[in-house]
Amino acid sequence: MAKKQFAVIGMGRFGSSVAGALSNLGFEVLAIDQNEQKIQDISGIVTHAVTADTTDEEALRALGLRNFDVVVVAIGADIQSSILTTLILKDLGVPRLIVKAQNELHGKVLNKIGADKVIFPERDMGLRVAHHLISPNILDYIELSDDYSIVEMKAPAKVVGRNLKQLDIRAKFKCNVLAIKTGDVMNISPYAEDLIKEDDVLVIVGKNDDLAHLEFVYAEG
Ligand code: ATP
Repeated sequence: MAKKQFAVIGMGRFGSSVAGALSNLGFEVLAIDQNEQKIQDISGIVTHAVTADTTDEEALRALGLRNFDVVVVAIGADIQSSILTTLILKDLGVPRLIVKAQNELHGKVLNKIGADKVIFPERDMGLRVAHHLISPNILDYIELSDDYSIVEMKAPAKVVGRNLKQLDIRAKFKCNVLAIKTGDVMNISPYAEDLIKEDDVLVIVGKNDDLAHLEFVYAEG
C-alpha cells in the first residue's frame, strides 16, 4: 500500500508542528504558506514547501491538492482565509480535509461547508492541562463528543493492589475501564480479577460528569 501523502497549509506554530511530525514519521508532506520566510524555515524539514496564497483557486488547482490523501488547513487567526481555503479545497474534491478552528463559531462554519474534521488545538490542550492541574494523576484527556471523554489516569494509591471487581468502577461511577497499561504493555481487555499495580495507567471512558466524579474521588496529593 502506498504511503499517504499530506499537505499542510499555514506554517504557524500548529501547522509547522503537524508538518514536521508527519515528515519525521516518514510521510511525504507538502507545506504551503503565503509567507516566504515561513516556507524557507520549513523547507529543510518537509518533502516540498511552496509559497502560495491558498485563497487563490487557480494556485490551489495548480498545486494538485486533489491528489493528496489528507489536507490540513492550519490557518487560524485569518478566519476569512481559512473559510475560503476550505471551500475551495472542498470544491476541488480533496478526499479528507482537516481544519483548525479559532473558536466555536468558526468551527460551525467549517462543519457546514464540509470539513471532514474540525480541530480546536488550543481549547483541547487547555482542557488537558486543566484536568492535569486539578488531578496530577490525569495524564491525558480526550473528548470523544460534547458529553463523553476518555481519560488516562495514573493508578491512584488507593486502587493499587486491588482488582477491577473490587473497585467496581462501572457501578460506582458509570465509567468503563478500557485498558490497563503496565509500562509499554497494554492490556486492552482487562479481566475483573486483573490486579492493578503501582505505576499502572488506567484508560477509562465515560460521561464527562461521571469522569469528573471519578477524578474527584480518586484525586490525591
Ligand atoms: P499558530 O497559533 O498555529 O501559530 P495561528 O492560529 O496564529 O497559528 P496564523 O498565524 O493566522 O495562525 O496562520 C498560520 C499561517 O497561515 C501563517 O504563517 C500565515 O502566513 C498562513 N496563512 C494565512 N493566510 C494564508 C493564505 N491565505 N494562504 C496561505 N497561507 C496563509
